Formats: sequence, structure tokens, C-alpha cells
Amino acid sequence: MSSDRRLGATPSCADDKDPESLGVAEARRRILDTINPIRSSVRLALRDALDRVLSEPIVSPVAVPGHTNSAMDGYALSGDDLPRDQPREYQVAGTAYAGGPYPRPCEAGECVRIMTGAPMPQGTDTVVMQEHTERLTGQRIRIPPGQRQGQNVRQAGEDIAEGRMVLDSGRRLTPADLGILASLGIAEALVRRRPRVAFFSTGDELRALGDTLSEGDVYDSNRYSLYAMLKRLDLEILDLGVIRDDPDALETALTSAAAMADLVITSGGVSVGEADYVKDILARLGRIHFWKIAMKPGRPLAFGHLGDTLFFGLPGNPVAVMVTFQQFVEPALRYLESGRPWKPLVLRARSSDPLRKRPGRFEFQRGILSHDQDGQLTVTLSGRQGSGILTSMSRANCFVLLDENNAGVDQGAMVQVQPFDPFYWD
Ligand code: AMP
Ligand code: MG
Repeated sequence: MSSDRRLGATPSCADDKDPESLGVAEARRRILDTINPIRSSVRLALRDALDRVLSEPIVSPVAVPGHTNSAMDGYALSGDDLPRDQPREYQVAGTAYAGGPYPRPCEAGECVRIMTGAPMPQGTDTVVMQEHTERLTGQRIRIPPGQRQGQNVRQAGEDIAEGRMVLDSGRRLTPADLGILASLGIAEALVRRRPRVAFFSTGDELRALGDTLSEGDVYDSNRYSLYAMLKRLDLEILDLGVIRDDPDALETALTSAAAMADLVITSGGVSVGEADYVKDILARLGRIHFWKIAMKPGRPLAFGHLGDTLFFGLPGNPVAVMVTFQQFVEPALRYLESGRPWKPLVLRARSSDPLRKRPGRFEFQRGILSHDQDGQLTVTLSGRQGSGILTSMSRANCFVLLDENNAGVDQGAMVQVQPFDPFYWD
């Protein structure tokens, strides 16, 4: 009997194929289906609108560029007047600078020295690069043949035509977008209000930094990794500390969190055994589903509503809390803000390790993505993969995505990876 078959006969494998558990994609779909994106908006100065979600479409009030202008330093002239087979001499009638119109029309046999960005003088439609001309004495230059009518000229409106839709509502504003808005003379942007997120840790064993640990205690690390992931998303964050495994304390904390936030996150207290009394409280306060997700790490997840507030009860294990945040909470928060579904970057890379995996659950193994000598993307595991091993999360720069059906990967096989956001090479 092969070792695979022996594994197949063990009860833990049946556990991997738990028919009651929900697929990752299905869970994400169900979550997004319940969310009503935020509608209220605020008008912000352009600089403050970076990475915020635009709440109105931007239609260009002007053309960019506003005037047909030179793309080079050189000489402007009429394309009809270009040399044909032989070099030709021209009189330089003056200089056109960026920032103002050139005062006279350019006549046949003449050219105008022109700077990059200067509006094209009347009578010209072509620019010959300075480097391609020969300066003669007495304001004269020689231009060789081989020029093309219209070359080195930026047409008015070639980037943005007046009246064109430039940026969609729902778009997250990038540095280029801020530049575009500025080039249109738009000094402020209407953007969505940021989601408010309240979160706390649960567990009698959790200690604050600075406290001394007694046997069985652990420092509350989830609150720091959660805070950091939320901070990266640039939201309004309310850190409500640690709540003991006590029904009254939990109920009070959940009620006040729900009153002040759009979304509440807790970590811990949703695994089998602990979940029962948390279930009772949440059932009283809202509509919550306790899901077993067919994933590893992070199988238990509570999701639902406390009134109008979204609720995520994440597992307590430090890696599980990060994986479930990134796979479920982050898409929910982004959707809440933008109304646009989440599409993470997924790449294919060669696995330099053999990857152990049994069918049944979607595994998010932690990997390090790099280039091999041939420039091929390769991924190697970042260390031990237990759901409490935060160092392998810290060393990683991507998740290796092994779907429900995957039964392990041979060394050298291609796998899908999801780079962390922001992504850093090792
Ligand atoms: P739980 O889901 O509450 O059963 O917790 C699962 C495991 O994660 C336990 O070993 C907890 O001690 C640990 N854990 C729970 N919450 C935290 C936290 N905030 N920081 C660090 N470890 C935690
Ligand atoms: Mg606990």
C-alpha cells in the first residue's frame, strides 16, 4: 500500500473533505453579496484624495494638451515646405517659447526655433529636431531630407479630448490620476467616506505588551498584525483592546463596536468549543453564520451582521488571522468602499519545493517569490506552515494557492501565487 493510500484511509483526511465546509470562493461571494457599499462622500483637496475611491465620474472640461505644441526642441515649419531630395536652407524668423503664442505667421522658406511645449506658430505643422539640423551663419539653418510632415508635434486634445469621460466613479485614485485631475485644473475630488473598522482580540490567555507572562499566557499579537493590515488599507481604525472570554464583557464590547463602526473584526473564540457561547451572544445581537471554510489555515470563520454593521469573527491563530483577513475581510472592506469586486494579482511560478497537500481544502501556503537565473518566476516555501508559525508569514512575500482539488505538487511544477500587497522581492 502506498503512503498516499494509507493517508487516504485516516479520519483526518475525511476531515479535509468535510462536506459541511464552504469553499473559499463561495464564502467570498456570499460575503460580497450581503454588502451595501458606502454611498456618502467627502470633497478633498487633490493631494488628500490619493488612494481614495472616486465618487463621481470625471468628464474633462478642457482638452489636454490645450494647444497643438512641439514635442521637441527644434525648428518648426510647414510640412509643405520641407526639403525633398536635397538639403535645404531656411531663415530662422524667431523663437517660440513654452507658455505663450508666437506672434507672427511663419512664411515659406522660413522656420521658427521652437522649445518643447511651445504652441506651434501659425503656418507650421512640423518640427525638425535640433540635433538633425545644421546651424549656418546669419540666422540660417540647413535641414536634410527625410523629414515627415507632422513629426514631433503633439496635437491639441491628443491625450484627453474635451468632454471625454476620463475617470470612472468607483476608481481608486492613483498618482497618475492625481496628475490627470491636476492637468484638467481640478483641485478637489469627491471621494467615498472611508469605512470605519473596530476590532478587538478575545482570550483569557492574552496579555498586553509590557505585562509579564505567566504560564499559558501569550502576548496579544493579533491586534498588532490586524492593526497593521488595516492601516495599510488607510481606513478609520478603532482598536478596542482585549476582551476576556466572558459573555457579558463580549456582549458589551460587540454592542459598542457595532454602534461605532461599519465593520467589526474580532480574533479568537470561534473555534469548536469556544464558539458555542460566542454563538449565543452573536445570535442575540445579530445575524451571524458560523462557517467552516474548506481552507488551511483559517477553517473557522464567523460572518454576518450586527444590525447594519458587518461582522467578522476571525480565528485566533496568528497566521490564520492574517490569511482570513487578506482573503475575506480585505475584499469586503474594499467592496464596502468602492462597490467593485476584488481582483488580486495571481501569477504562475515554478515551485522549487515539493508541496505536500491533501485534496479537500484550499491551502494558502506561505512562499517567497523570486527570479531564477533564467528570469523565470520561482517560489519556495518560507518555512514551517503551521497556523501559529508567524515567522514563515513574516519571511513570505506571497501565498502559494493550492485549490481544494490539489493533491500535492512535485518539485519544479507550476503553481499559482498571489503576491502580497504591497509586494517586496526577498
Ligand atoms: P482561539 O481561536 O481563541 O481558540 O485561539 C486559537 C489560538 O490562537 C490559541 O493558541 C490562542 O492562544 C491564539 N490566539 C488567540 N488570539 C490571539 C492573539 N490575539 N494573539 C496571539 N495569539 C492568539
Ligand atoms: Mg480563545
